[in-house]
Amino acid sequence: MTASQNWNMDSVFEGGSHSETLQKRIKELDALIQETLTQISEWEPSEDQPKYSQLASFLEKRETIGNGLSEAGTFARGLFSANTKDLQAAKVVNQLSTVGSQMSEVETLFMKKLKDIPRDEWQTLISKEPFKQSAFPLEEKREKGQKLLSEKEEKIIQKLSLDGLNGFGNMYQTIVNSVNVPFEEDGKITYLSAGQAANKLTGSEDPAVRARLLKDWENAWKEKAPLFSDTLNHLAGFRLQTYDLRGEKDFLNPPLEYNRMKEDTLNMMWDTITENKPKVVEFLNRKAALMGKDKLNWADVTAPVSVGDYEPKTYSFEDAQDFVTTHFGTFSQEMQDMAQRAFNEGWVEAEDKEGKRPGAYCSNLPESKQSRIFMTFSGSANNVSTLAHELGHAYHSHVMRDLPALNRSYAMNVAETASTFAEMLISDATVEAAASDEEKIALLDSKISRAAIMFMNIHSRFLFEKRFYEARQNGLVNEEELSTIMEEAQKEAFLDSLETYHPTFWASKLHFYITGISFYNFPYTFGFLFSLGIYSKAKREGQSFSEDYRSLLRDTASMTTEELAEKHLAVDLTQPDFWQSAIDEILADIDDYLALTADRV
Ligand SMILES: [Zn+2]
Repeated sequence: MTASQNWNMDSVFEGGSHSETLQKRIKELDALIQETLTQISEWEPSEDQPKYSQLASFLEKRETIGNGLSEAGTFARGLFSANTKDLQAAKVVNQLSTVGSQMSEVETLFMKKLKDIPRDEWQTLISKEPFKQSAFPLEEKREKGQKLLSEKEEKIIQKLSLDGLNGFGNMYQTIVNSVNVPFEEDGKITYLSAGQAANKLTGSEDPAVRARLLKDWENAWKEKAPLFSDTLNHLAGFRLQTYDLRGEKDFLNPPLEYNRMKEDTLNMMWDTITENKPKVVEFLNRKAALMGKDKLNWADVTAPVSVGDYEPKTYSFEDAQDFVTTHFGTFSQEMQDMAQRAFNEGWVEAEDKEGKRPGAYCSNLPESKQSRIFMTFSGSANNVSTLAHELGHAYHSHVMRDLPALNRSYAMNVAETASTFAEMLISDATVEAAASDEEKIALLDSKISRAAIMFMNIHSRFLFEKRFYEARQNGLVNEEELSTIMEEAQKEAFLDSLETYHPTFWASKLHFYITGISFYNFPYTFGFLFSLGIYSKAKREGQSFSEDYRSLLRDTASMTTEELAEKHLAVDLTQPDFWQSAIDEILADIDDYLALTADRV
């Protein structure tokens, strides 16, 4: 097998970040956006009936623009990720976001116009081709259009958001940039940026270092708490005012609608998790004992557990490719073939070299009908899981590649379905392939710790955000109140099992300050368990399930989440059974972990 560690970007646009073909393409897209804006502004639904050929032509252009922007975006962001010194690539990324931002006006107009089509006229329209296939996303756009204010009012909100909502989002970043965390090493104090300190906090292997740093970390955020509290209050206030203007009474509705799910489903998920938490606490306590402590602190939960020296199994990139394709093949021929293709055709950038940004991601090329995967491969079992995770994303795009753009835009809560599934397939296999018990414990530890974050940490974020918004509806919430709400949420979510908490987490966590969407938390846990439940079914049914799995992925943007589960898994997400089957996967891991570590404490 060939094992090129670098991706092929020339096949997308030739000439790197200075590519002339790319610039030509961006110009075309820009012109097409202007054209589309005029077309949708002048569109009169009543004059377009009964065939709605104008609407069809608009949707075609919208598709071309969306695909074009994604293709160019994957290319430019990719170049910059692989070489952060490529400033021209950064420039192109910026250029694309400016060009693309004009689409929000097109979208608003589009939704507003759909709302003007009379109900029975509309029913006939979406029952016919070429609209039929996209009936669900179109219906959704029309409903959103119904909630919007007048064109003029929406424009005012959008313009004021730049210095309001978005202004506060930017302000958050500015304050974070001014945060310094003192760090003592070998008797010398250095000052770390928030990012550096966060890495040390979760990555440091020494519990004493983490404990000391956690204290300084907490203090650093506390020092600037009044600034963060103002920022959070005004950001949320702006959002609540907008909801109020649009007649939206429940702040939980927009994020639920965005994720196409019911509140009953969300509540059932948290309730089932909560029932199973005592077992997770057993894991946390065992992990603490392995670290020589009674209880873990906030930063210990994700820290690597110490099990003594061992030689972990390492993988060459070639081994990793074989490992992943072979194990994919045990479940789905198509997944295996796609992974093989990804390696053969240069979809993956994996080389361990300087100048690359950290992290991993998968990005879609809708025009080439391919994906590009970015990561840094240094030979660990975790790297192999990451590779599988990103290939899972690529598989999701792969099975959707022939669908209209409207049917490809799945929400955050199902975005990690295919990736987590692929990762599980591989990480279970790496645990089995571990060279020693020590390595097995370490791998299980990182797997279960991630679940613990989903069940406890993210639950605390959800509880906090809900209580904060409730309080914010009645006025400003000062920094002390924010810290109190946060600490109470953390204690509740962790069943009071930790030694120390992180009361100013509301300041240190970027997710509370994201302007595009609120409640950037429960979709993580949802996605994780949704995928785990599917994985559990796949283990029971084997290869025969791979076709159903494929159909499920294809439908992820074509119906509500409850309908998706009902149609392809025959389960009711408002009932506990499915959630329990997903959680059982983790409980089994915990049992293994407890057994393997029993005589080590
Ligand atoms: Zn992912």
